Formats: sequence, C-alpha cells, structure tokens
Amino acid sequence: MAQINLSPPSMPDGKKKIAVMTSGGDSPGMNGTVRAVVRQTIASGCVAFAVYEGYQGLVDGGDMIKHMSWEDVRGWLSEGGTLIGTARCAAFRERPGRLQAANNMIEKGIDALVICGGDGSLTGADKFRDEWPGLMDELVAKGLRSKEDVAPHQHLNIVGLVGSIDNDLSSTDATIGCYSSLGRICQMVDYIDATALSHQRAFVIEVMGRHCGWLALMAGVSCGADFVFIPENPPSENWEEEMCSIVKRHRAMGKRKTIVIVCEGAQDRKLNHITGKMVNDLLATRIGLDTRITTLGHVQRGGPPCAYDRMLSTLQGVEAVKAVLEATPETPSPVICIVENKIVRKDLMQAIQLTQQVAKDIAARDFEAAMKGRDAEFEEYWKAFNITTATDKSDMLLPPEKRMRVGIIHVGAPAGGMNAATRAAVAYCLTKGHSPIALHNGFPGLCRHHDDKPLGSVREIKWIDAEQWASRGGSEIGTNRGLPSGDLKTTAFCFGKYQIDALFMVGGFEAFTAVSELRKAREQYDAFKIPMVVLPATVSNNVPGTEYSVGSDTCLNALIEYCDAIRQSASASRRRVFVVETQGGASGYIATIAGLSIGALAVYTPEEGIHLNMLVEDIKFLKEQFAKDVGHARSGKIILRNEKASKTYTTEIIANIILEESGGRFDARYAVPGHVQQGGTPSPMDRVRAVRFGVKSLQHIEAYAGKTRKEIADDPLSAAIIGVRGSKVKFSPMERIEREETDWKDRRPKNEFWMNLIDIVDTLSGRPKACRTP
Ligand code: ATP
Repeated sequence: MAQINLSPPSMPDGKKKIAVMTSGGDSPGMNGTVRAVVRQTIASGCVAFAVYEGYQGLVDGGDMIKHMSWEDVRGWLSEGGTLIGTARCAAFRERPGRLQAANNMIEKGIDALVICGGDGSLTGADKFRDEWPGLMDELVAKGLRSKEDVAPHQHLNIVGLVGSIDNDLSSTDATIGCYSSLGRICQMVDYIDATALSHQRAFVIEVMGRHCGWLALMAGVSCGADFVFIPENPPSENWEEEMCSIVKRHRAMGKRKTIVIVCEGAQDRKLNHITGKMVNDLLATRIGLDTRITTLGHVQRGGPPCAYDRMLSTLQGVEAVKAVLEATPETPSPVICIVENKIVRKDLMQAIQLTQQVAKDIAARDFEAAMKGRDAEFEEYWKAFNITTATDKSDMLLPPEKRMRVGIIHVGAPAGGMNAATRAAVAYCLTKGHSPIALHNGFPGLCRHHDDKPLGSVREIKWIDAEQWASRGGSEIGTNRGLPSGDLKTTAFCFGKYQIDALFMVGGFEAFTAVSELRKAREQYDAFKIPMVVLPATVSNNVPGTEYSVGSDTCLNALIEYCDAIRQSASASRRRVFVVETQGGASGYIATIAGLSIGALAVYTPEEGIHLNMLVEDIKFLKEQFAKDVGHARSGKIILRNEKASKTYTTEIIANIILEESGGRFDARYAVPGHVQQGGTPSPMDRVRAVRFGVKSLQHIEAYAGKTRKEIADDPLSAAIIGVRGSKVKFSPMERIEREETDWKDRRPKNEFWMNLIDIVDTLSGRPKACRTP
C-alpha cells in the first residue's frame, strides 16, 4: 500500500466532523452544495471539512482534506463547476485505496461524508460505508491504527447528493446541475433557431446524455424541436421514415426550420447507435433540406448555475447535514432528492438500483419499463412532446361529439412560459380534434369587439401560428388585467356567440380571480357552466392552490443575473452593501428564493414587514461582517427588499439609513431591477412546465366533453386550478381554494410554503435571530 500516515488521529472533541466532497463529472451547483454543507455544519456547532479532488483527495489525504471556515465559501453560490475539484479515481475502486482513504479520515477525525456526484460516486460511497467496520479492523490488524484510535469511529455516516447534468438518477426529479445545463442547451438552440429560420435550414443538435435522454427530451420540449432521439424510447423500427414524414409534414404546414435533437446515447430499437451524421444525411438526401450538425459539447457543463440549481444545491446541502446529525448506525445511507417541490430523503442504494435497472431495461430492449423507471415526469414530458409535434395522428382524433371549442385567454401581467403553455394547448387541441380559440387581450379585448364583425379579437389558432411560440417571452395573444366582472353580461354573450365550450386561462392572481368570478356567476349565466382551468403564470408566484407559477423561474434567473453583476461591482469597490428591490406584489417568495440563490445577507418580505429594530440589528450585523471581511475577496453584500415590504422604509430610505449609520465603515447603495424581472426569454423550466401543465389542463377539460351544463356546474372540479402541491401536481377545485386558502386582501395564499426558507437564508448568511425581531 502506498504511504500511510502514521501520526496519531486528532481526538474527537465531542463535535461532529463533517466532510463534503464533489466527485465524478462536474455540474453547475456543486459549489452551492459545498457552501451550504460547510455553513450548515458550522451553524450546527460541528466542524466542516472539504475533500479536494474527489476520491483522489480522500486517498491522498493530508492537505487534500481541508478544514473549512465560514469565509472560505463566500461567493461560491454563483460559481460554475466545482471549486474543490473533482476527479475520477481508480484507486478508490479497490479495497487498498479505500483502506488508505479510511486511514486519512481517521487522521482528521471525520465522522461523516457528504458526497455530491453521480451514481458511480454514490455507489462507491455506499460501498465505503458498508466496508467501514472491516476497514477499521484491518487498520488495527496492520498496526496502522490503535484500537483506541478507531474506537470513536466504528460507524461512518454517508449522505448522497446527486450532482450531474444528465438528470440520470431515478428517484429524484432533478439532479443538481441539470437545469443549468438545459438552460445552456436551450440558449444555443434559440440562437440556432434564428439562422435556421433565415435560411430555412435543418439543424441536427447533438446533446450530452450517454444513457439518459432527459436533456435531449427537455430541450425538445422547450425549444419546439421536430424530433428527438433518446435511448429510453427509441423511435419505431422504421425510424428513418417516421422522422422524415414528421419533418416533411411540418414543412408542408409552413414551418421554415427543422430542429432535430440527438442524444449522445441515441439508438434504434435494436440498440444500433444513431448518430447525428446519420440524421443529417437523411434530412439532406431524403428531404433535400440544407442541413447542418451542431455538437454542443462541453459548453453544456459550464457556466454559472441557474437559480434553480443554486436553490436546490443549497436546500439539499442543508438537508444533508440534518440527515447526518439525525442518522444512527442502523439508518440506511440516504440520498437527498426532490419530488416536484419537496426535498425528501430516499434510500441511496435503492435509488441506485432503480437507476441501474433502467440501464438493464434498455439493454434488454424493454423500453416501456425503461420509461417507467425514470421519474414520473419523464414519461409525461415524452407524451407531451409527441402530442405537440404530432399533427395528423388521426388515431388520436376524438369522435365529433366529443370535440370542443376551447377558449384560450391570458389574464394579468405577462410571465415567461405563457406562450409555451398556449402553444401546447393549441397543439393538443388540434391533435384531438378540438378547436383552439384565442380570446385576444383578455376579457376587455373579448368584450370590446363583440358587436362588430370579427376584428381578430376572437380567432381560431392554427398550428403554424403557435409553432414559433415555444421560446417566446411576453404574451402572443395579448394579456390584460381586466376582469370579467367589468362586464359579465357581455362576457357571457361573447361566450355564447363564439360557442366557447371550455376555457383555458393562463395568468396570475387576476386569472385566479377571473375564474372565481366566472364560477360564481354561473347561477346567472349558463354560458359559464363550462369546464375552466387556470394555469398559474406570474413572476410573483402568489397564486393560491399552487407552490409554483409559470414565469417565476424566469424571474428568479433574471434577478440572480442582475444581483451577480451588482455584487461584482460591490465587491470590486469593497465594503459596499446593495439594497435591491424585488417584485412579487405582497408575496415575499421571489425575494426569499432569490435570497437563497445569491446568498443574500437578509431578505425583507411583506409577510414579516420591516421594523426599526430589524434595521438597527442588521446594521450591527453588517458592521461585524465587514470587520471580519478584511482581506477577503467577494465582500459585497446584498439585502433583498420586496417592493411591498414596508410603506415607510422604502428601498432608498433603507440604503440611506445604512449609509448614515455605517459611520463611514462601508458604503450603501440601492438598485431597482423593475421589469427586467419579467425576463426576456422564458427559462427552460418555465417552458417545459408550461407544456406539461398545459397538456394536463387540456386533458382535464376534455374529460367534460359531452356532459350537460348542469352536470358540469355541479362538479367542483369543473372550475379548477392546476398546481404543484408538495410532491404532487394536482387539480384543486376553485371553490375550496377561494374559500379556505386565499388571503384576498393581500392577494396571496394564506399559508406560504416557503416562509421557513427565510430561516435558511439567515442561517447561511450568519444573520442573528435578533435581526428578525420587530
Ligand atoms: P457522472 O454521472 O458524471 O459519470 P459518476 O459519479 O457516476 O458521475 P464515475 O466516474 O462513475 O462518475 O465515478 C466517480 C468516481 O467514484 C470513480 O472514479 C471512483 O473513484 C468512484 N467509484 C465509482 N464507482 C465505484 C464503485 N463501484 N466502487 C468504488 N468506487 C467507485
């Protein structure tokens, strides 16, 4: 065995010593994990270590296992890759390597290891834990450690976090890094779109994913690709014909560009590899398209993490430390997962077995099982993608008596993803034989022109009209804050006149209010006894009945980009604090999640308000922080203040008070990003969820086809809101949500799931509890 350090181990001083490492391929968000683990460890009264260069660092020991201080991880949230390094380590695959690693851990007195990596890294970690007692015996038997040395370390605690751009671990909806990578892919495809459109070209885009098609599928859904190749569900035996016929049909319907996404691990049903070149040649020779291949390569791994990855890595890092502290020798090693909106612990080895099972299913050509083996969303996205690209699947058409005229309307301020939802709804309608009718410019738009001949305010949307909308921001059919109560009678008249059989509404709190008004007016107007669904879309994420609104992720990304730039300026000028005003209406969601994602010093929300004592304590805290920062880079600080947090303490006043009270020790400025937060191009997460929820909404609406108006009115779910609730996507009846869950005065849900996340922002910035005391 190579060099083993024979110096005596540091004796445990009663404090748990928790080490964090990153392993396998790097992914954006890994630094957020390290920061969260280090700070949560210290905040819990334990000692934090980081293992540099993955398992290689563990095997090499010495300086590779470093004690970490609070300041060491300052500013790490916004950095891409992994600052503690990662490596593939052959030595750790063998027992002698693991024995050396164990010895190095005893040396530092480490009790627990938090590993952020892919399934290989996590498998290695579990094996290490399994072997640990034997490794201890071996160290003693070989005379490398005394019995006393190993006595306090009879058990090793392991917690896994999944860091991977591929999103290939079954059991979790998202791995740390996958949405950043998807963001990069979509940005590139959006750029390619422009040139493809100009020249009417076809582009074959090769994306990463040797065994998992998540990136390819999601890129297809969010960019409106024509065809996607993924390993889990290869196209038909005659895939060449299948792809060409879809592309030709899209072209015949007026599409000027073609985008085909090919996953690295693409294959046919006999497991023969399908390459980008093969697809390129087919498009060029069989259809005669001017075709180019673009291989995105390592840009997919790089760059700063998106808002979601920063939040996910932070929350999961915090949860990992909690799991370490709660673990007993009997607890199986957990992996920290996310299911819809809920952070959960699952059995690490079960998750890995499920993941490996997918690979086995693919190898055995059991593609149905492979699709099911991925998380539940995966199959839904696959179906949604197929429905939005299929245009003449006559086998999917409903009988004429089941076909509906579906009114589609946008209400309230624009939000990223509104158009993607509408595009999906239009494509769904056309595939099933319904008529998608755009009600332009909201309810005022509908009512304004009802006497005239059609002026374009009510129009059937064609597939090609909506086809370009997947990645567009704003609202293509126009949105308006006006409510039906502005003119219920005319609204009902228009519903009758245009034979609207169902209503799909996209928007924020106004849309929610609009459906509520229509539902209540059903007693007076039969025209409203139709199925209605509201798909929440607002940057504020303040719609009751859901924990997530389409558009909020776009807003968060715009905000963190803005804050990153501001922080850079604040750090460059040293000792400066910025007070940044966020949108969000009377909901502090955006401020809080952005606070988590940028590592804000504090967040001020309307729910808690701003009090003089908070400012006094925060200024005290700022003084302490700047005093500690001497010599540290990245010393800019940000406080996020929601626009409605206080009528008295405006953003400017707070900055002025801080400046006045700083006694010249630091500078304070304020910044208002304003409508930048509505974002330009919607984020991929908003786009894909818009598509998924759009399709689900239409399926919900469709279930009412053929029912009488009375039957519809009697069913509480005929006026519903679709939303994420904990670990589920659900339809909830408007009537109940309005009555039980809505704070009508402040236009937000009564219980906001994210409120306790303010504690995490504070814990990770080190802000004392006194700062929150009014
Ligand atoms: P990615 O998803 O990026 O491939 P990964 O964690 O799956 O990440 P691997 O290369 O499979 O990447 O594993 C990373 C390291 O984990 C390996 O170099 C090795 O040191 C360790 N490792 C992987 N599998 C095992 C195993 N079965 N036993 C012990 N160690 C392992």
